[in-house]
Amino acid sequence: MRIRKVQHVTDPSTCISCGACELACSLLAIQNIGGRFCIDDDQCKGCGLCISACPTGAADSYVSTEHVFSPFQQAEWQSLPDPVRLSGEERVE
Ligand code: SF4
Ligand code: SF4
Repeated sequence: MRIRKVQHVTDPSTCISCGACELACSLLAIQNIGGRFCIDDDQCKGCGLCISACPTGAADSYVSTEHVFSPFQQAEWQSLPDPVRLSGEERVE
């Protein structure tokens, strides 16, 4: 059986690189990699403070994946990877 995980990420297509999410995260789970604000899944505890701070909704993004994407992998994205995009409301652990 394949195990899929819902990973919290930021959406590069709507992110304006303001940095508010990084400032909001007390766990230092968000890394600025060349202007892309990427969430370290090992550090994120899902508190939602970055989502509240984000002016565009880009931090309220999730991907369903079999393999966790590292911050550096996320930094390469131009948009969320296909095929699955989930909103916060659809999130299932
Ligand atoms: S949900 Fe909380 S812990 Fe995770 S990246 Fe956002 S502010 Fe940091
Ligand atoms: S707060 Fe939102 S728009 Fe600003 S850098 Fe973070 S994800 Fe991008």
